[in-house]
Amino acid sequence: MAEKYQQLLARLADVQNLNKTAAVLGWDQQTQMPPGSAEPRAHQLELLARLSHEMFVSEETARLLQDAAAEVAGAPYDSVEASMIRVVQQDYDDQVKLPTSLVSEIARVTTLAHEVWAKARANNDFLSFRDTLEKIFDLAQQAAQHLGYKEHPYDALINQFERGITTAQVKQIFDEHKPALVELVHAIGKHDSAVSDALLHQDFDVEQQRKFSVEVATAIGFDFQHGRLDTAVHPFCTNFGREDVRLTTRFDPKYIGSALFGTMHEAGHGMYEQGSGAELEYTPLSGGTSLAVHESQSRMWENMVGRSKGFWQWALPKAQQYFPQLARVDVDTFYKAINKVKRSFIRVEADEATYNLHIMLRFEIETGLLEGKIKVADLPEEWNARFESYLGVVPPNDTLGVLQDVHWSSGLIGYFATYALGNMLAAQYYNRALQAHPGIPDEIASGKFDTLLGWLRSNIHEHGRKYTSDELTRRITGESIQSRDYIQYLQTKYSALYGL
Ligand code: ZN
Repeated sequence: MAEKYQQLLARLADVQNLNKTAAVLGWDQQTQMPPGSAEPRAHQLELLARLSHEMFVSEETARLLQDAAAEVAGAPYDSVEASMIRVVQQDYDDQVKLPTSLVSEIARVTTLAHEVWAKARANNDFLSFRDTLEKIFDLAQQAAQHLGYKEHPYDALINQFERGITTAQVKQIFDEHKPALVELVHAIGKHDSAVSDALLHQDFDVEQQRKFSVEVATAIGFDFQHGRLDTAVHPFCTNFGREDVRLTTRFDPKYIGSALFGTMHEAGHGMYEQGSGAELEYTPLSGGTSLAVHESQSRMWENMVGRSKGFWQWALPKAQQYFPQLARVDVDTFYKAINKVKRSFIRVEADEATYNLHIMLRFEIETGLLEGKIKVADLPEEWNARFESYLGVVPPNDTLGVLQDVHWSSGLIGYFATYALGNMLAAQYYNRALQAHPGIPDEIASGKFDTLLGWLRSNIHEHGRKYTSDELTRRITGESIQSRDYIQYLQTKYSALYGL
């Protein structure tokens, strides 16, 4: 019975286990590894990348894929079998275009790059990172040429994270909603004094912050029996399968928002991974289907839930137990404070109104670099000029500017755009969840999150990678990604907050 299909699954499980082993080493590097240990780690990750790629693109895999496809031919489109063949064939067609030597070189260079970047960021020293970054963009350019594209090398790179979308589509979606965002931020700026966030910027004991973050992540549904929370220079979520999901955050002893909202964000990613269908485990269908869909989950929990007034009706009394300095703060004041719109420098801490502007400037820079219109050496100036044009302020240094994000050092080029797309999907999906269950906001206000999580589980999480981002979005909302819902959400929320 479907013997070749079973053999294919066994082979794919080996590849998957190699990849998850590499993920353990990657997690360790960013959370535990001593700063001087990058060299051996680079050798280890280079080896795993090589073994995994060789095994996946081998003739044996191709033959099994062909035979298995014949065995399960006629299975319904939605079935695991048909989805497996469809998705694995697409993965194979992409991966086989990349030379294994390039894949392992990227693993080696980006592993070494992490420490170089972290040091450059700590020392505000772009120059010490420049040569490494040039090498990484060169490798990305090579990968794009191998993968192939019709119009723009960025098409090939973003396709690795968001299958099927093109640079032209991203540009169109950005151009469509940029004027509304700029107008909103401008209008808010005129009413700036209506909202103060001073109460969030005082001394907050780090251990208390950690405990509160864990309590909130647990309450919204992250399973700590199959996951944990650690600290990292740049917060991220990774997984070694649905039963071992790792969150990271970072603590600022003088600002409560960084760790708390960072944890809710990463828990949103983590719950997506934990909710992936059990029958998909150890196969390429397990886990999130695309980065934009992934980001829709993290942003929904961080913002639509975590920055809503209802959530703080439940959470503020808890926060007051951890932080006595908040004892006399009321929900309205706290809700306003956490939604203060600021022309701030750090993307991950940006408010919802300015967030996509942070992404648009990164998208312009990445496409410009790939087109050869921007040079790596000029990045600080290019960054600061765009930052001023988008947000009206210039970062005082590169640590708060071009060096802030971990992504380029990890070789993740073509990735940033998916954050903005994720914001839009979050609004589209959340509207659908509210249509299906109008009681969700009231439940959130009483600390009950399982109706929302259950809706996300059955509509998104359990499908893993069976459907592409666009297929999933059409199934759920009846249309493709659009910025209308997100803009409407922001306008409604901020008009009330700022009295616009
Ligand atoms: Zn995220």
